[in-house]
Amino acid sequence: SRQFFVGGNFKMNGSVKSVSDLIKGMNEAKLDGKTEVVVAPPALYLLQASKEVQPPIQISAQNCHTAAYGAFTGEIAPAQLVDAQIPWVIIGHSERRQMFGDTVEFVADKTKAAVEAGLKVILCIGETLEERKGDKTDEVNQRQLQSVVDVLDEKAWSDIVIAYEPVWAIGTGLTATPQQAQEVHASLRKWMAGKVSQEVADKIRIIYGGSVNGKNCRELAKEADIDGFLVGGASIKPEFIDICKAAE
Ligand code: 13P
Repeated sequence: SRQFFVGGNFKMNGSVKSVSDLIKGMNEAKLDGKTEVVVAPPALYLLQASKEVQPPIQISAQNCHTAAYGAFTGEIAPAQLVDAQIPWVIIGHSERRQMFGDTVEFVADKTKAAVEAGLKVILCIGETLEERKGDKTDEVNQRQLQSVVDVLDEKAWSDIVIAYEPVWAIGTGLTATPQQAQEVHASLRKWMAGKVSQEVADKIRIIYGGSVNGKNCRELAKEADIDGFLVGGASIKPEFIDICKAAE
């Protein structure tokens, strides 16, 4: 069975002190490691977080570039994250797709570069409200995944967690219902079985993101194909610890 996974995406929030305090609070929560817990502070605080964090909690970057090194001002190479002992990276977040020009191809290339460098990837996909209303949910999510399927070997999928984050649910308080999320997760898993393999489809964690909080996490966690969460706003609040325990 699949190990439950909870990611905390701090986005562009925090300070030297608040990141330190959040990590300290998580260390003190004595999480038992049954759920894989990964937190993603802004790049500026990755080294600090990586020194402060204690197992079983792990650290993730929020983005990386495709290239190994070079003239890419402001970017971070996958190999630099590996060098700094940051094991995870979030790729394809809808905020990057919408605001920073991350196309489906660029997301696929970043994912490939990250996995090849030795990182594990939280790969984000998700439809907008307009796309959902137009009955395009599956089509959009499949298109976003297809670009990655096209560039990855089957075995690379063992280093990937898929985060289904409907754009209409992010930061809006409009959480997908457990049934809505389950329906998409099941559909994506079936699609992966056809496009990659049954084995990958059975093993891959598909986590849900979008207004997850301490109150709704347990109901969502009960669904068969919801293998965890990617949490934004609530990841920088004390309730994040409760979300990390949602599957217990
Ligand atoms: P919220 O939990 O704030 O809705 O954000 C979700 C998200 O985008 C996580 O990556």
